[in-house]
Amino acid sequence: MQKEREAEPRRGVGPLIPPLSEGQRPLRQQVFERIRAAGLIPRITLARELAVSPASVTTITQELIEAGLIEELPAPRDPEATGRGRPAVALGVRTGAHRVAGMKLSDREHTAVIVDFAGTLIADDVIPRRPGPLSLTDLLDAVETLLDRVCAKAGLDRADLSAVGIGVPGFVDVAEGMVLWSSVLTERQVPLAAAAAARLSLPVSIDNDANLVALAELWFGAGRALSDFAVVTIEHGVGMGFVMNHRIYRGAQRLGMELGHTKVQLDGALCRCGQRGCLEAYVADYALAREASTALNWGHKEGQPINVLLESLYDHAKAGNATARSIFRRAGRYLAVGLSNVINLFDPALIILSGERMRYDYLYAAETLAEMDSLAIDTGRPRPPIEIHAWGDLLWAHGAAALALSAVTEGLLAPAAREIAAQ
Ligand SMILES: [Zn+2]
Repeated sequence: MQKEREAEPRRGVGPLIPPLSEGQRPLRQQVFERIRAAGLIPRITLARELAVSPASVTTITQELIEAGLIEELPAPRDPEATGRGRPAVALGVRTGAHRVAGMKLSDREHTAVIVDFAGTLIADDVIPRRPGPLSLTDLLDAVETLLDRVCAKAGLDRADLSAVGIGVPGFVDVAEGMVLWSSVLTERQVPLAAAAAARLSLPVSIDNDANLVALAELWFGAGRALSDFAVVTIEHGVGMGFVMNHRIYRGAQRLGMELGHTKVQLDGALCRCGQRGCLEAYVADYALAREASTALNWGHKEGQPINVLLESLYDHAKAGNATARSIFRRAGRYLAVGLSNVINLFDPALIILSGERMRYDYLYAAETLAEMDSLAIDTGRPRPPIEIHAWGDLLWAHGAAALALSAVTEGLLAPAAREIAAQ
């Protein structure tokens, strides 16, 4: 008879997915998010779409109604429904339940919006600023001033807000609320979320501004129905937000997707990050300004805003100046390299080019797109469409408001999941 061996500890196999990971949100959170995404939805449709029983939906929606988060409203008229059996009521988010602010802080100006609980814009405002990094105290002064102004426009007090989302350029750890480096701050390693929360007496979430554009597209724009897409922002720098499986992809340390600092040239042009050959060093506005001052011998006057120089460069290109055109053409070629790398790495359903610089159409002229095609691997399948969204900072601020709305929703519906699902 075989001697019974002492049982060895069983190790287990398979991925160690923490409970309540992003894909396993509590049902009541899923119900709420589905209602918010639909605008108005009858209970029966909600049950069908979430594949749960109508009884469960009734219980959960009753809780959400009692909590004041959703309400019953007249069902929208469905032209295909025959009078009988059409639900008389639908569920919608109770718009006044919460209001949040979203802000984009940039080198040029600070922008803010206030939205209601259904994400509808209530008020917006912009304050211009002198370019250059600020101390944390000065930045918080600007945030406070802007927030009070946009609140006044909305007819609200600061205390009427439930949360604030803030987007800054640079390296941001969203989970820790830390800005590791940003062009708008003189200091490094700044706990901006905590500092702003203390100053404003409100919960504050922060994120990289490119992620917030991706979030804005995911919540309000072209990305709502797409599971995987990229947003490439061309502004003072080059950024990328990537949505993977309907969520912002951030990386293990939440510092990924720095497309602007991927290398496109060995020993190439000097980048703001201190390294050489970064994509940003060929495409961003300071790169165009550098080329203009070298090739056209234009002096960049001290204190002159860089966009004045860029506007002038653009005007010369439009008027047929060959050197000015070649500067944009060269930047466009590098952009083509960057975009083809994104396609080859991620196979996105769509690439959105966003930011004020997208007015410079030479950057994405037919030659640029043709060059991108020639650099993307030939699979025999069509390449993803490229859309140009030359929207301003208001869109970015909307993304910051979506971040704040997410934080409010997580806090209300999934407190335990909050640390895991930081988005
Ligand atoms: Zn760089």
